[in-house]
Amino acid sequence: MENADVIVIGGGASGMMAAYFAACEGAEVLILDKNRQLGRKLRITGKGRCNLTNNCDRREFFENIPGDGKFLYSSVTAFMPQEVMAFFENHGVPLKTERGKRVFPQSDNANDVADCLAGLCRRAGVKVKKTAAVGISVHDGRVCGVKTEDGFIGCRACIICTGGLSYPLTGSTGDGYRFAKSFGHTVNSLRPSLVSICCAETCCADLQGLSLRNIGLKLFEDGHLLSSELGEMLFTHCGVSGPLVLSASARMRHVGERAYRLEIDLKPALDIKTLDQRILRDLQKYQNKELRNALADLMPHALIPVILMSAEADGFQKANAVNRETRLRILHALKTFTLNVTGTGSFEEAIVTSGGVNTREVNPRSMESRFMPGLYFAGEVLDLDGYTGGFNLQIAWSTGRLAGISAGKQSLADSENSDEE
Ligand SMILES: Cc1cc2nc3c(=O)[nH]c(=O)nc-3n(C[C@H](O)[C@H](O)[C@H](O)COP(=O)(O)OP(=O)(O)OC[C@H]3O[C@@H](n4cnc5c(N)ncnc54)[C@H](O)[C@@H]3O)c2cc1C
Repeated sequence: MENADVIVIGGGASGMMAAYFAACEGAEVLILDKNRQLGRKLRITGKGRCNLTNNCDRREFFENIPGDGKFLYSSVTAFMPQEVMAFFENHGVPLKTERGKRVFPQSDNANDVADCLAGLCRRAGVKVKKTAAVGISVHDGRVCGVKTEDGFIGCRACIICTGGLSYPLTGSTGDGYRFAKSFGHTVNSLRPSLVSICCAETCCADLQGLSLRNIGLKLFEDGHLLSSELGEMLFTHCGVSGPLVLSASARMRHVGERAYRLEIDLKPALDIKTLDQRILRDLQKYQNKELRNALADLMPHALIPVILMSAEADGFQKANAVNRETRLRILHALKTFTLNVTGTGSFEEAIVTSGGVNTREVNPRSMESRFMPGLYFAGEVLDLDGYTGGFNLQIAWSTGRLAGISAGKQSLADSENSDEE
């Protein structure tokens, strides 16, 4: 019968990190993955560049984790972003830090990160089997093996690193949630995060493909301001997307239960007074043109009819006939262009899954299940997610490392005990 001290289900970011550290403890480690190649999702992260962590301090890190950040205190403090950076640099992946403290490989190639980990695992003696785990077996009240599509493999500890539900084509199809539930774990409600936002307004479809830079985006939940950021966004067939929107989506923790509204400030650099003077200037400059043609210096062409409609202004009137009231309504539409949120994009296009295995049922100092000895969790399968900027991979590295060390140590201690018996 095939055996390993530690079986890691899933050879993604957290799985490879876990396997490497378990092997460093001296354990015989086997990674099971459905895919032929390890780190399939990791290889497409950061648009193929892999934003592998964020070069921030401890406080900033936890500010970027919207859910149960406290659960990560032990694992992240023991493997901080700077230690993750040193880890990769010491193993042959030179890094660079960009805007927003985002860290990338100098090569701008995510494969370098995945290959580095795969190589470290191989050199540490980790075995890899291309198969899907279908269940986890228990004997005498503890984990004793994993059932796979190709048969049973015995083990002393098993780490579930199966990821979430997002981008299922990369292999993360939610199997880990099923395994966790079979041991009585709660799986907190799952929803796509870092994803596009769908809106009620049909103008989004008309504006599809239009991208806006240097704008302000505010997100409101039941009328309360949740976030306000400056950056880029774009319109899609059903709503909005782009960096600002993805970040906002991560803050929408109660979609379907609470009302969300987006407010776009198309001119965040201009205060009301300055913008009013600017509009006045343009109306005077193009006084003999129709209003719809007099605003071309102020906003992209495609936006003009939408803004005029929102301001209830007649675009065919002459610019010199626009009264103060109409002008102020245009100004208001430019500063607070409002979209009512109807939902988010699907898991297929979401960067991460929010929700997952309830962290209260997992020991934060070891990543071991509080219900089943020998069972560990790491990565996105847990109810943990972060905002954009490298925080999700940092979660995978820190929890993966801790789960690997704990499972490795435990499996060896168990093996010594059974030798003595
Ligand atoms: C397009 C995209 C871009 C991203 N960019 C970034 C970024 O730049 N920075 C960042 O911090 N985060 C990014 N993320 C998020 C980040 O990739 C994930 O949070 C991270 O990969 C989670 O790691 P994981 O190990 O938990 O899961 P995954 O990396 O998803 O790995 C899970 C693995 O488990 C395997 N598996 C699942 N079920 C089974 C089974 N039953 N048997 C065997 N194997 C199984 C899968 O095949 C897969 O290889 C991005 C995500 C996407 C989709």
